[in-house]
Amino acid sequence: MRNGEVSFWFSQLDPEPPRPALDGDLDVDVAIVGAGYTGLWSAYYLAKADPALRIAVLEAHHVGYGASGRNGGWVANSITGGREDDAKRVGRATVGRFQEIFNEAVDEVGRVCAAEGIDAHYVKGGELLVARNPAQLGRLLAEAKHEESWPEDEAVLLSAAETNQRVRVAGALGGMYVPHCARIQPARLARGLAHAVERLGVTIYEGTTVLSLEGRAAGQPAGALTARAVTDRGTVRAAQLLRCTEGFTASIKGLKRDWLPMNSSMIVTEPLGDTLWEEMGWQGAETLEDMAHGYVYLQRTKDGRIAIGGRGKPYKYGSATDLDGDTPPETVAALSRQLHSMFPGTTGVGIEHAWSGVLGVPRNWKSTVGLDPATGLGWAGGYVGTGVTATNVAGQTLADLVLGWDTERVRMPWVNRTVRKWEPEPLRWIAVHAMYALFYGADRSEDRRGSTTRWWAHAANALSGRGH
Ligand SMILES: Cc1cc2nc3c(=O)[nH]c(=O)nc-3n(C[C@H](O)[C@H](O)[C@H](O)COP(=O)(O)OP(=O)(O)OC[C@H]3O[C@@H](n4cnc5c(N)ncnc54)[C@H](O)[C@@H]3O)c2cc1C
Repeated sequence: MRNGEVSFWFSQLDPEPPRPALDGDLDVDVAIVGAGYTGLWSAYYLAKADPALRIAVLEAHHVGYGASGRNGGWVANSITGGREDDAKRVGRATVGRFQEIFNEAVDEVGRVCAAEGIDAHYVKGGELLVARNPAQLGRLLAEAKHEESWPEDEAVLLSAAETNQRVRVAGALGGMYVPHCARIQPARLARGLAHAVERLGVTIYEGTTVLSLEGRAAGQPAGALTARAVTDRGTVRAAQLLRCTEGFTASIKGLKRDWLPMNSSMIVTEPLGDTLWEEMGWQGAETLEDMAHGYVYLQRTKDGRIAIGGRGKPYKYGSATDLDGDTPPETVAALSRQLHSMFPGTTGVGIEHAWSGVLGVPRNWKSTVGLDPATGLGWAGGYVGTGVTATNVAGQTLADLVLGWDTERVRMPWVNRTVRKWEPEPLRWIAVHAMYALFYGADRSEDRRGSTTRWWAHAANALSGRGH
């Protein structure tokens, strides 16, 4: 089994020569930090809207090195942190429209792939949530009830039999199907987007680490190139500077406690034979998730493998981030156990690759996108585990903000949201480990006894700040 090496998705691509690093100081109109989906989508929509803009993307490693080249490939319509709090703040109608914008972005990813000739293995097959014990079913039914007030999602509750008709997951007691989700090969999207923005005249500098960011000097006009990204290869001066570093943000000066870097790990099987696919009844491209607190997420790859991910070891002390995705054997074993439990026919099937990545978790679990017009500093991230579609919406929104366009996107509830910082260590470490101990403890108890959710799972939800 291969371990780390960024991801299985990258191991499937032909190697490309690295792009040159920044070579000394540079002046541009817009500098973007990070060549993940957020940075690349922002560059894409900006360059499309104004071909005259000089845009540079500064990337510490290589295109797609972060979560964008490692994720589960779910292009889902989930809004990180839910909709209820925002509905109370800005009204139900605005949040309903926000949900529709996410639905539309699922299609937009497919549209751009087709328009730009990006073969990201995009197939829109919807998302299937499966309850596998009575406690999970209780949560699923509550979720379905909640969905009644958000018809934009078009979620459909499924009986056990209907769930099995879609995919035969062992022990399924019921399910929920949401049509707004596609499956992709993540590294192919990252690489394809990078080529697309380069064709539009954007320059990507790889092997260039941004050490600190400074906003435009006070009193300078909006177009002045006085915002600065200080890198290990030179200083970039720009009118606008977009920070698109998600789970790595804590490594930038002054931002240690903004978004907590949370780990997620994946394994992928060898290609499965037709007989096994028929036995599993998984003939479409639905993405799949269970209803456990420490849930797993799965996709059927284009070449007939199962890729399954879960939380793994959630957090490293001091907001440290991993490098090339090395994954501990106990995480590989735990994900394999989950896979075998959902699909007993996969027991004995080889695991070909394991890897991990980091995602950014805000203290209130709510993602943000914004631009401070006074300083020219912009940002987007904190998507927790649902960033693939959100990065597209964020990229479109950052482009609108940079260009000063008054679109409906810039009036959505996540724009310029303020988020409180995480606690200093050791509290951060203790809080995250306590939360996951509660999640996994509750899951084990629910599996064993089939009992309803215990008080400690409710406590974990309160601690995590998660909600609908
Ligand atoms: C294992 C895993 C599975 C996931 N599965 C899903 C899924 O199925 N669906 C979903 O919606 N979401 C999923 N996510 C989350 C999703 O992948 C992310 O939210 C999304 O890719 C974030 O994109 P990004 O561009 O903001 O950040 P990233 O992709 O992390 O990109 C940030 C980039 O910035 C660069 N960088 C960082 N610091 C610096 C610096 N100082 N200087 C220069 N460059 C820097 C990094 O090298 C990196 O390339 C998953 C995440 C992981 C880790």
